[in-house]
Amino acid sequence: MPKVLFRFFDGENRTYKHRLRHVPFVFVLSLIALSQSVAQSRFPRDYFTSPIDTPLKLSGGFAELRNNHLHGGLDFRTGGEEGRPIYAAADGYVGRIRVSGHGYGNCLYINHPIGYTTVYGHLLSFEEPIRSWVNRRHHELQENELDLWLKEDDIPVRKDQLLALSGNTGASGGPHLHFEIRHTETEELINPHWFGLQVADHVRPTFDCMEVVPLGPGSLVGGKPSPLRLQFLQDSTGFWRANKEAKVAGACYVQVKVWDKHTENELRQGIYQLLLIQGLDTLYAFKADRYAHSETRYANSVMDYEAKMLNNETFYRMFRSPGNHLRLLNTELSNGILYPKVGVKTQYQIIATDFYGNQSEGSFFLTGSQNLTPGLKSAAPHRFESQILPDRALNLEQDNFRIHLPPGTIYDTLNTRISIRAGPASSLSSEYRIGSPRIPVHHYFPVSFRAQHVPKSLKNKVVAIGTNIKGVQVAHMGTWKGEWFETKARQLGSFYLALDTIAPHISMQGKLKSDTLQIGSSLFFTCSDARSGIKNFHFYVGEFWNKLIWDAKSTTLTARIDENAPRGNQMLCLLVIDAVGNEANLKIPVFIP
Ligand SMILES: [Zn+2]
Repeated sequence: MPKVLFRFFDGENRTYKHRLRHVPFVFVLSLIALSQSVAQSRFPRDYFTSPIDTPLKLSGGFAELRNNHLHGGLDFRTGGEEGRPIYAAADGYVGRIRVSGHGYGNCLYINHPIGYTTVYGHLLSFEEPIRSWVNRRHHELQENELDLWLKEDDIPVRKDQLLALSGNTGASGGPHLHFEIRHTETEELINPHWFGLQVADHVRPTFDCMEVVPLGPGSLVGGKPSPLRLQFLQDSTGFWRANKEAKVAGACYVQVKVWDKHTENELRQGIYQLLLIQGLDTLYAFKADRYAHSETRYANSVMDYEAKMLNNETFYRMFRSPGNHLRLLNTELSNGILYPKVGVKTQYQIIATDFYGNQSEGSFFLTGSQNLTPGLKSAAPHRFESQILPDRALNLEQDNFRIHLPPGTIYDTLNTRISIRAGPASSLSSEYRIGSPRIPVHHYFPVSFRAQHVPKSLKNKVVAIGTNIKGVQVAHMGTWKGEWFETKARQLGSFYLALDTIAPHISMQGKLKSDTLQIGSSLFFTCSDARSGIKNFHFYVGEFWNKLIWDAKSTTLTARIDENAPRGNQMLCLLVIDAVGNEANLKIPVFIP
């Protein structure tokens, strides 16, 4: 049960008082505690054991704010090395196996009879009998990347059975085990702490800084239409206070940079619960208990998207955008918009709590002022602009370009229009611009171009080029319907059509010492594609299909010569294909004794 005691800073006489004398406030906290114990009782606390055999140390928390997603589980440290044994957390069967150079890399899903699935990601290798099963499927399908769904009888596992060795495969920033607990049927992600995992945690969250962000036309903070940053300073009692006060004309919200650690020496993690409180009212609440997989991109609306993507700064926005339906946010409260009363200094509190009830409090003051920016009082679109509302669909068409935004594409109302300019030298169309890649987008939306003069022979090499928030070009593959090229995008900003006729680039890392190659030895290749991206790759020893391992983060393909490969004089052939079918190949004659 989390501790509910906390103190608040009284700005008038600069002393600290226990807040518990405010009965309604205790009541609020009791409700939070009660709702936790109700939630807690739903989950068995001694069913799952730890998947690793060393004391649990975390390097990532549940529902932490990551680039474009919420973290789906916990990251367990593996002492900075790969190859640690990973055990089944309970009896069950292997429900799914994925092998990929992206995402969770080599990953196992174990379904348990009580209706939950445990997930083990970034694995180095699988143990028997999983290893042989996977290997057989690689060769049957002649595919290097796999996503296999298994039946109950295929590979049963026992609690504590050795499943795999830990690794750093997929989108992993260092050796660790990514561990999730999902509801099997709905694939809802549940905070694994609810299942009684024993993690030693005695450290309270740390406040770093916050920003007061003007919201809506004409609003100003500190006399400016831009965010004002306040630094948190900690006093001797552990209480955090913003280093200055802010004057606000109109409306604003706040965002806070705060993190948790479970011991002083561990890495920073996200916060379990964040509350924004004014007087007796809780204005905003975030609590990392459970969410559906389809909600993961709401992370971009919980965080300051630009600060995260451009500066890797993680701010929790304490403002719920109208199009943000993440269930970790309490929708019964206000949306976190603050309207400080003119001439009145108001105190606000932020409470950050980790799962084990370690709690920190911060406080800041806002004073309302009347000086809005003159003439900027309407949120209506300008002439020629369209208004995109978060939960409404909108079709826009101009010139040879059209875009359909389904309901729920964006989180905040956007007034914008399609603007047109000449495309870059090699483009097949004008460049169309709508909104900006700085606006987070929840799901893919259709984008279409009319292109009448593309020769038939080149039609399958056409891609739509967009640009992401970092200014990096993103290619979108599509299909032709008559003279319309139809594709899907997940960022706003500029779009134009271009051709991708350039094959991927491949090269071998290092040189063969001799042309004799032993069974079991490995070859490494660097491989990249400028436009549409690498889609598939194959490696042959003569006629024999030999498995490849792809690591997207290092753009490396590894070929380990299979024990069933043919012997004698052989031609090795690496074939790499991009998303529109351009092929590159590399041939190496060898002798396999
Ligand atoms: Zn993870």
